[in-house]
Amino acid sequence: GGPRQCRRLEAEAARAVLGAADTLLFDCDGVLWRGEAAVGGAAATLGRLAAAGKRLCYVTNNSSRTRVAYTEKLRRLGFPPAEPRHIFGSAFCAARYLRQALPPGAAAYVLGSPALAAELEAVGIPHLGPGPAALPGPAPADWAQAPLDPAVRAVLVGFDEHFSYAKLCQALRYLLRGGSDCLLVGTNRDHRLPLEGGTGIPGTGCLVKAVETAAQREAFIVGKPNRYMFDCVVSEFNIDPARTIMVGDRLDTDILMGNSCGLTTLLTLTGVTTLDEVKGHQESDCPARQSLVPDYYVDSIADLLPALGD
Ligand code: PLP
Ligand code: CA
Repeated sequence: GGPRQCRRLEAEAARAVLGAADTLLFDCDGVLWRGEAAVGGAAATLGRLAAAGKRLCYVTNNSSRTRVAYTEKLRRLGFPPAEPRHIFGSAFCAARYLRQALPPGAAAYVLGSPALAAELEAVGIPHLGPGPAALPGPAPADWAQAPLDPAVRAVLVGFDEHFSYAKLCQALRYLLRGGSDCLLVGTNRDHRLPLEGGTGIPGTGCLVKAVETAAQREAFIVGKPNRYMFDCVVSEFNIDPARTIMVGDRLDTDILMGNSCGLTTLLTLTGVTTLDEVKGHQESDCPARQSLVPDYYVDSIADLLPALGD
C-alpha cells in the first residue's frame, strides 16, 4: 500500500533492518566488485555478516561463470567462503530449469559460453553449440541445409561472444521444427554491460531479442527480475521473504525481483544506478515505476560496517 519511499539506510536503522533479517541475497557485479576489483570494504562487510550468523547467497545474471567459478572469485577477492550451493548464477538456474522442463535424454542447442555448457553437463543435459558455429556453405541459404540433431528439444540463449548469424539460423530451425515442443529459454535480458568510463558492451538481452524476433515467440527468462531465480534459492534453503534482504545495483533486475518477491530491497550506488533515477521513479504514480523503487539505499555496502559492530 501507498507509494514506496526509498530512504538512506543509516547506522541505527541499519542495525534494525539487519537484525530482522536472517538471509541476504547479493547481486555480484556492481555490489561486491566491479570487473576484477572488489568494492572497498565489501569483503569486510560480508565477513561481519557471516560472523553474525547471516546466510549469504549470491544471485547473478551473468551466465559466463559456473557456480564453482564464483566460489573461487569470492575467495580470491577476500570474501567469506561460499559453497557452490550458495551461488545462483543464470547459467546454473537455466540448467536447473531445463532439467525440470525437458524429458529425459532431450538435448539443448546453446548460444552461450563454456560455463553455460558446464552447468548443463553438471545436471546431465546433452548440448550442442558453444564455440564458433561451423558454416555449412558459402551463402545464408545453404545454412538452412545444415544437419539438425533430432534430440534437441530446447534452444538456450546466454552470453555468447561467438554469437553469429549462422547460430541464429540454426536456433530458428530448431524452433520451427519443434514448434511449441521446442522450448526457448534465455538466461537474462540485461541490455548492456557497463564498463568503466561510461562505455559498455551489448548484453545478453540483445541476443535473446534476436532469437525471439526470428522465431516470433517470447523466451522464458530464468534470471532477475523473474522470480524463477528467487524460487531456485527457496528450493535450496528455508527462506522467509520477510526475513530476507535483496542487495543490488540495478533497479530493473535486482530491485524489481526483490520487490515482487516480497523481500526488503537495498540499492547500492557502486554500480549502474544513480539516486536521481530512483527519485524519478518515486515521484511517478505509475505502478510499474513504483515497483522499481527500493526500500533503502547506501552509497556502498561498506556503509553497513558501523551497524555490524566489531
Ligand atoms: N551478464 C554478463 C555477461 C556479465 O558479464 C555481467 C556482469 O559482469 C552481468 C550479466 C550482470 O551481472 P550481475 O547480475 O552480477 O550484475
Ligand atoms: Ca549488478
